[in-house]
Amino acid sequence: MLDTLNPEQLAAVAHRGGPLLVLAGAGTGKTMTLAARVASRVMDGADPQRLLLITFSRRAAQALQQRAGRLLHQALGWGATQAPPELPWAGTFHSVAARLLREAAPQVGLHPDFSIIDRGDAETLMGLVRDRLGLAQGGLAGAAGQSGQRGGAAERDTGRRRFPLPSTCLAIYSRCLNTQAPLAQVLNDDFPWCAEHEAALKTLFAAYAADKHAQATLDYDDLLLGWWQLLGDPTLAAHLGQRFDEVLVDEYQDTNRLQAAILQRLKPDGQGLTVVGDDAQSIYRFRGAEVGNILGFAAGFSPPATQVTLARNYRSVQPILDAANATIAQSPEALPKALVAQRPGGQRPQLVNVVDEMAQARHVADQALRWREEGLRLKQQAVLFRTGHHSAALELELTRRNIPFVKFGGLKFLEASHVKDLLAVLRWAHNPRCRLAGFRVAQLVPGIGAGTARKLLDGMQGATDPRAALQAFAVPASAALDWATLQLLMRGLADAASPWPGELAAVQNWYTPHLYRLQPDSAAVRLVDLDQLQVLALASRNRERFLTELTLDPPEASSDWSGPPHMDDDYLILSTLHSAKGQEWDAVSILNVIDGCMPADMATGSSAAIEEERRLFYVGITRARHHLQLLVPQRFHVTQQHKYGDRHLYGGLSRFVPAAVAGCFDRLAPAAPTAIDAMWPVGARPEGLQLGRQLGAVWD
Ligand code: ATP
Ligand code: MG
Repeated sequence: MLDTLNPEQLAAVAHRGGPLLVLAGAGTGKTMTLAARVASRVMDGADPQRLLLITFSRRAAQALQQRAGRLLHQALGWGATQAPPELPWAGTFHSVAARLLREAAPQVGLHPDFSIIDRGDAETLMGLVRDRLGLAQGGLAGAAGQSGQRGGAAERDTGRRRFPLPSTCLAIYSRCLNTQAPLAQVLNDDFPWCAEHEAALKTLFAAYAADKHAQATLDYDDLLLGWWQLLGDPTLAAHLGQRFDEVLVDEYQDTNRLQAAILQRLKPDGQGLTVVGDDAQSIYRFRGAEVGNILGFAAGFSPPATQVTLARNYRSVQPILDAANATIAQSPEALPKALVAQRPGGQRPQLVNVVDEMAQARHVADQALRWREEGLRLKQQAVLFRTGHHSAALELELTRRNIPFVKFGGLKFLEASHVKDLLAVLRWAHNPRCRLAGFRVAQLVPGIGAGTARKLLDGMQGATDPRAALQAFAVPASAALDWATLQLLMRGLADAASPWPGELAAVQNWYTPHLYRLQPDSAAVRLVDLDQLQVLALASRNRERFLTELTLDPPEASSDWSGPPHMDDDYLILSTLHSAKGQEWDAVSILNVIDGCMPADMATGSSAAIEEERRLFYVGITRARHHLQLLVPQRFHVTQQHKYGDRHLYGGLSRFVPAAVAGCFDRLAPAAPTAIDAMWPVGARPEGLQLGRQLGAVWD
């Protein structure tokens, strides 16, 4: 079956026993090798239940499963109707952790119905604790009672300067857990401006953790930490280690210390452990990913792990790889790895100058249709960009022209208040101790404010049966009727026999009149999102799985403009560069290849951040099979910058495209050259010179 694989891939597939590392460049078939390894194990008679496959997203897990299925189909001569094998343990670190913790909850003192909160909710909770402790006001009012620390160094420190915002506090907390570094070191290395608040932050984090525990609530970091702690028990660790014959990890370059430590505890001798990745594509260091995990993997075992290198790129044509090689060659960090194409021929990629974002949007839409005329389905084409909002003008243009599209990454679907409301009801029904959910839901009832809600939740928290306390709670007469309706709903949801996904429909029925009351102007549009949620619910086995999957791997496709496309429809792919990881398309366009967007403005502070942006750009370039266009608008609209409001920036071609890189591109019939363009034609501009900065911003 594996006759299409090259000898190095075959060696990686055939390898049995000790730890294995595949460290190789983009498009060289690393993920393919993992799929083939799975297929070959299944062919050998392995039980798919005993294969643990860790990928970067649920989407990637599904894609890998399909690839393994295709290989098995070929090998066994199966008919098209024969379903590929299900890999029940394919998912992200977080989703696998959630399942294992759910199983082992009683053994580790966790309530089995624990809730999982996303980053947004975690930030809200951090904010509530921060307020309660009086940190925003420069004191530790509430903390004194809990920690016994009154008037200590923490309190004095906090008064001096404004305390970090909840989002920063959460980032610091998360960084400590994921890098397993002490708070002082994290503050010193990454948040020096918060270092003076160390003692107060410690108190805050302890209170935040205590709150989560009382509410039987875990945040994303707790899932990893919980898994790691499970493995700290020698009996459980031995049990879990033996449960999986193979542990296969894709995109290993973007794992953090905690994730590496989990693998180490799961497979201490590395038996059956395979990791694959590419250091040149590490793009999550800003969130604590540690490229040292992959670079030091082999040496972490004795004897060292077997290492396989793959040299042939099967994805892209050579002219595109020339541009990719030239790009990464500019990086002082990446290991030298020139990509060599297996595909013959190919056109040179193109640099396209456009006047502004509207012209860029028109060009991309025109080009997508042109490529479609040449036989490329829209689904085989992707438009990539640095941040979610960079595609706004394009989305409008596509909508105007009726070109369907789906957008991945950067979407705030779960952050919309109506989606949050609906999910909060489900979450509260599932775990009545979750104050965060309860606080939100109770206040949806007219006549119930924060004070009454708090009284209700305090009562529930103290009760042995919080659901009974909810039913017994008396509200002001003005709220009585609406309150009774909520009580009725919650009674129904508490019934173990209540059907799924019928429960969700019941919640929506209850919520709809409230939505019309709260958001009279936009209720109808928002209901479309809620209907979409009903569709998503069909795919989950039960309420718990639905909540977990949605929280850990939120749907990325936007229905905002295009409407959810049917499965057989053709649609253009819009994606952030981060979400494009691991994927490939026949044609790729990258928007806004200008300084300020690529690299992003906020990254221009340190050389490490700039190098991460360069790798991100490299990831974008290496997604393209046959066609690649970089778009370079001469004028770029920036919203709400500082106190000046909206403005236009006249930027220059990205610093990631100096002469050595630009020489790999053709210029596509540039629009009439602007003054800037004429000043510094591509290839002639001195490297590192930032035209945007030099010329200054031009205000509207
Ligand atoms: P990335 O670094 O972007 O994650 P990768 O190394 O994981 O890339 P894959 O996605 O596995 O690469 O493979 C890239 C493309 O090459 C895919 O279309 C895959 O089907 C194809 N491919 C991989 N190996 C072979 C092979 N031996 N023969 C033909 N095609 C191959
Ligand atoms: Mg891959």
